[in-house]
Amino acid sequence: MNRRRRIYEGKAKILYEGPEPGTLIQHFKDDATAFNKKKHDVIDGKGVLNNRISEHIFVHLNSIGIPTHFIRRMNMREQLIREVEIIPLEIVVRNVAAGSLSKRLGIEEGTQLPRSIIEFNYKNDDLDDPLVAEEHITAFGWASPQEIDDMMALAIRVNDFLTGLFLGIGIRLIDFKMECGRLWEGDMMRIVVADEISPDSCRLWDIESEDKLDKDRFRRDLGGLLEAYQEVARRLGIMNENERPRGSGPVLVQ
Ligand code: UDP
Repeated sequence: MNRRRRIYEGKAKILYEGPEPGTLIQHFKDDATAFNKKKHDVIDGKGVLNNRISEHIFVHLNSIGIPTHFIRRMNMREQLIREVEIIPLEIVVRNVAAGSLSKRLGIEEGTQLPRSIIEFNYKNDDLDDPLVAEEHITAFGWASPQEIDDMMALAIRVNDFLTGLFLGIGIRLIDFKMECGRLWEGDMMRIVVADEISPDSCRLWDIESEDKLDKDRFRRDLGGLLEAYQEVARRLGIMNENERPRGSGPVLVQ
């Protein structure tokens, strides 16, 4: 199907060479992994939904002046993006305690945090993406102090936008992960939001029922992941009531 040159293959996406220099094609796979690939499934249609949901979010970020790598969606599974130099950090923004924060600090999941908290994890599968401090980031040269400031400013803006977007459709944004890259334009470089933002990388709880509409359905064996992602897409108004992203429901391949 794809005769283009493959640049990189990750857990949930493949990057191909783009049609013009400085562009890449980001392909969304159906693979779901957790706990650093110790848990793996293929969920038919997940990639299609994440492509659409991430497109929706990145189009809006671009339109409110938050710079991203996103150019346009090309088809059901692929989007055209600008080639950036990915900074090897996961930027996690938390509004409500959950997941690793709850475990690490003994704060009950669902506790509203006194303010939004930004954390950095070093992207390294062999080390299970450890939490790192700004000291480590600058000492080891992963990003400069100015770049850390830029990433934090972007993270706060993205958090404000996403919180409002999801609140408007009855969803509480608990936390999310984003990645940044260096976009070179001639001699100029700026930090932009890269990768994806989707229910794979956010915690999204229904405001009324507190039902999880995100990848915790997979991590915690709750089932119904595809239906949850479809529900997010439906509420965002990017999927018709009757549209199915392929297959008639979640197909879990053990
Ligand atoms: N997250 C992610 N990729 C990762 C780790 C975390 O997208 O490799 C997201 C996760 O979906 C959640 C947020 O980052 O929205 C915070 O995750 P946490 O640190 O609590 O880790 P987890 O409990 O998922 O191991």
